Amino acid sequence: MTGPIYNLHNHTPFSDGALTIDELCEAHLDLDGIDVAGIGICDHLFATPTSREVSNERDYARIFGAEARQYLDEIFAARRRWEGKLRIFAGCEINWPLNKQMMPRLRELFNELKLDYVLFEFVDWAGLTQLANQARRWPCPVGLAHTDVQEAFPNTSLDQVVRTMANARIFYEANWKFHPLDQHASWFNVLPDHRVRISVGTDTHDDERCLKDLPAMFEYLDQRKLGDKLLDPPIREMESIAQSA
Ligand SMILES: [Zn+2]
Repeated sequence: MTGPIYNLHNHTPFSDGALTIDELCEAHLDLDGIDVAGIGICDHLFATPTSREVSNERDYARIFGAEARQYLDEIFAARRRWEGKLRIFAGCEINWPLNKQMMPRLRELFNELKLDYVLFEFVDWAGLTQLANQARRWPCPVGLAHTDVQEAFPNTSLDQVVRTMANARIFYEANWKFHPLDQHASWFNVLPDHRVRISVGTDTHDDERCLKDLPAMFEYLDQRKLGDKLLDPPIREMESIAQSA
């Protein structure tokens, strides 16, 4: 495998996951047949069940901003605890239909919050083109979560989807729900010729048994010559520490 072995999609009790960050770390380090170098915490933000209903932009920034800061504090603390053993990335998963009206506000928040990447879920073609127009203005990598490309964009050719993503540098998540990934071979056959980064994510919620499929998922990507396309997001908190030092 040429790229870094990260599982960038894990939920914790902060949203709807059952395992704590420490439990997730232990479970990944216990895996046989694979040396996981890092995991991404990727809880649902900007729509968590604990939040009050948010109807205007000011409330949106205030309520969800505070929530995201609390979330990041937990991740940063875990990052210190696991230093030298496992890299911990701060990601989040955002529901596109629920948040698409708030994109300018959300991007502003992202400039301030040191999230390392964002996965959007339930993105349709109109959403992908909208995201593509602004993806390079985000301070961190932007990707599509658990997307069956043919189902999500039924009227668009794979070629057009991949070109749109490549031009906008939107990455694609190879999600555990599509394991074995060969079920989506037509899409994975298109990817090697294009500059689309790929992340691997099990979307861990309450059952860590999904992690056992990580070796097979990475193996598949390697066979498809996609190992060198794996996403390696810079850790933004570390960058800001380095800049201020
Ligand atoms: Zn998820």
